[in-house]
Amino acid sequence: MGVTTYEKHGKVAVITMDSPPVNGLGQPLRAALLKALDKALTARGVKAIVLIGSGNAFSAGADIREFNTPKAYAPPNLLTLVGAYEASPKPVVAAIHGSCMGGGLELALACHYRVARPDAQIALPEVKLGLLPGAGGTQRLPRALGLEAALNMIVSGSVVPAKALAGTGALDDLIEGDLREGAIGFATRLIKEKRPPKRVRDLEVKHANLEGFLMFARNTVESVAGPWPAPRKCVEAVTAAATTPFEAGMVTERRLFNELMLTPESKALRHIFFGERAAAKIPDVPDSTPTRPVARAAVIGAGTMGGGITMNFINAGIPVTLLEMKQEALDRGLDTIRKNYGGAVKKGRMKEADVESRMQLITPVLDYAAIAQADIVIEAVFEEMGVKQAVFEKLDAVMKSGAILASNTSTLDLDRIAAFTKRPGDVIGTHFFSPANVMRLLEVVRGEKTAPDVLATVMQLAKKIRKIAVVSGVCDGFIGNRMLEQMGRQTLFLLEEGALPKQVDAAMEKFGFAMGPFRVGDLAGNDIGWAIRKRRYVEKPLVTYSRIADRLCEQGRFGQKTGAGWYDYKPGDRTARPSAAVEQMIVEYSKEIGLKRRAISDEEIVDRIVYALVNEGAKILEEGIALRASDIDMVYLNGYGFPPHRGGPMLYADTVGLDVVVRRMKQFARNQHGDPAAWEPARSLAKLAAAGKTFS
Ligand code: NAD
Repeated sequence: MGVTTYEKHGKVAVITMDSPPVNGLGQPLRAALLKALDKALTARGVKAIVLIGSGNAFSAGADIREFNTPKAYAPPNLLTLVGAYEASPKPVVAAIHGSCMGGGLELALACHYRVARPDAQIALPEVKLGLLPGAGGTQRLPRALGLEAALNMIVSGSVVPAKALAGTGALDDLIEGDLREGAIGFATRLIKEKRPPKRVRDLEVKHANLEGFLMFARNTVESVAGPWPAPRKCVEAVTAAATTPFEAGMVTERRLFNELMLTPESKALRHIFFGERAAAKIPDVPDSTPTRPVARAAVIGAGTMGGGITMNFINAGIPVTLLEMKQEALDRGLDTIRKNYGGAVKKGRMKEADVESRMQLITPVLDYAAIAQADIVIEAVFEEMGVKQAVFEKLDAVMKSGAILASNTSTLDLDRIAAFTKRPGDVIGTHFFSPANVMRLLEVVRGEKTAPDVLATVMQLAKKIRKIAVVSGVCDGFIGNRMLEQMGRQTLFLLEEGALPKQVDAAMEKFGFAMGPFRVGDLAGNDIGWAIRKRRYVEKPLVTYSRIADRLCEQGRFGQKTGAGWYDYKPGDRTARPSAAVEQMIVEYSKEIGLKRRAISDEEIVDRIVYALVNEGAKILEEGIALRASDIDMVYLNGYGFPPHRGGPMLYADTVGLDVVVRRMKQFARNQHGDPAAWEPARSLAKLAAAGKTFS
């Protein structure tokens, strides 16, 4: 099947891009567009050309299926295509509707005239992948649209409706009715009026205070771009458009594009883009797997998690029956949900009426009979096997056949939970993160007996409630918390050996975490980790744990909620102030366990914490708990605040070089304190490092 069609209407040739879903400019479409142009140019009777897209888009830009493959650069490349359309001696009219983004917009800007439906979505989103438009976008848009507006679009990557471009050189006409007819009419008028091709490249970028504006733009971007190089280079490219001839600007654009392609930050963003898509794919559960309809959900437990989970469903328009043990607990849960929405209303993100219509979707109940007809039920009761057993036995007795029985457990064995029912195939883990209505991550725990259609249904549902779902096998802590435990152990060993909370936090924040681990502990409550460790001491007597955090908790320093934790807090103020008492306690503790404190570098702090994650991640991969390294990265990026510009722990290790990581781990293993054995590189890590390979 062709990816373009070619028709003649009088003296106008109409070239239609027809490559679903969004006319991505992959090699086949690029080649076909060039061929169609040649046909129009050689056809004697044709005096003007209309370029239009079928379906939902003019063109949404590069074909993502070609990303990271040689096809992306296979001839004709985008620059060749864009150049050919621009050079056409017959006027070319781009007729724009739907998405017109990235390479799609660059192609349109190379056409001689542009007409669009008012609601067409116009953008150069390359910056979101850490890049800049590399087919003339940074040179033509400022010429067509004006310096300031173009720079805003290029640096932000944001989408503007075509109607916002009316009256600029970027758009010649808005067409309210049939776009195709309108564009043909426009081209016919061009022919009648003998108007020649009008090329954006011939325009000049004008600005009343060019130098001043460019300096302002550089300063602004410097102060907001954080670790990202792309916005800075976008300004550089646009500066070239404003200050050098077109051809020189194109050379600058190409150089900057190539530089960005090689930055770890852009690699991280592209890794995230593909990682999020890859996470939805499960090799033995193909896309064709049937799913079960989910029109109605039930949630058991209206506590911290149950409330947040309920909000996810009602936000997506799925009614929820919310079950609790007592009316008071139910009322409290509903109050919290209402308060959360109230916050959104105050910030102007939601209307009061919408709160009401969402609350209407919740049916609060105390009786299991009332949830029997739900298509999925998610249990979020206390984290105790006995309580889970009682709930799942009850669910097994009352739920309609075919209902999906999900548990939000964060640590318990899902296979044991499934075994409390006579339908273990219907049981699955849905591990939400707190606050569940905010955090994007959902670990979907696949039990030994979870049925493929149950898994497929939950993955589809996750998308509907706007979560990034990552599949995890059953193990203690699943992917995220299992790795977190290793990270937690290292942070505490570091304190014992010579670091202080403020140093560890500062080092991790400099690496890119929004908050260091001790500030996070104070925010979440140090008592949570304490409770987990107490259980660990019994369950895993052979594992070495630092007891230094227990000392803190014994003093009642649970964190912000008690006004004191690793740091001191003033009432009503979340500012973490280093605590002399805690620092003294730490120093004394080291002495008590016979350790001579030493100066620890920020580099050691970061390496020990991050490589602890990497090593456990590698074990999780070998055991098949995670399907792919990028899944682990998606967990850490979306659930644990790993800095996006690092792309997740596994990609970060790849970037550093696995051989370097392994050498460093061997160095750490020589440190007799803590747990030297933990630094034995995972088999898969050692193997990849030896072979000079990467996780990705
Ligand atoms: P919570 O104590 O805030 O809420 C639990 C609720 O369940 C309470 O309102 C309680 O009344 C209700 N409940 C208890 N037994 C019940 C029963 N038999 N029938 C009906 N309702 C019952 O606890 P939480 O923090 O929301 O945690 C719930 C689950 O989510 C646990 O399994 C926990 O491990 C998991 N989880 C918690 C977090 C978190 O950060 N809090 C994160 C991920 C997962």
